[in-house]
Amino acid sequence: MTDEETWGPRPLPDVSPETERYWAAASEGTLLLSYCSACDLYIYHPRARCPDCFEETEWAESSGDGTVYSFSVAERMEGWPEEDLPLVVAYVELDEGPRVMTNIVGCDPDEIAIDDSVSAVFRQTEEDDVAVPVFQPS
Ligand SMILES: [Zn+2]
Repeated sequence: MTDEETWGPRPLPDVSPETERYWAAASEGTLLLSYCSACDLYIYHPRARCPDCFEETEWAESSGDGTVYSFSVAERMEGWPEEDLPLVVAYVELDEGPRVMTNIVGCDPDEIAIDDSVSAVFRQTEEDDVAVPVFQPS
């Protein structure tokens, strides 16, 4: 699902040929991971080769569901709009295994706890085919 809020005016992510498809899928509401069939390992951030065995990875769709592994609340953030602070910076452990560094949105930062269930929502950027996944309590 795509969030009604947009990503702008926050800084745009770095889109490389390796990650283009990841950002484009996000703009359609799908969180993509890389998957190594040799290691049976899901990988985030997506990459063309497995960091363990260097085999080529394939794309895999994540459920977008996970739990809060750790988080901190930033009162200030360079280049970040003031109305979007405080910003909750978190590691979310996806149900598929990998941990994603992300933001938690749509909740009071004081209410967030380790192991809370969260799910991905996507914020569209000013680029048509680039959206950024963030997480909200589920
Ligand atoms: Zn591997």
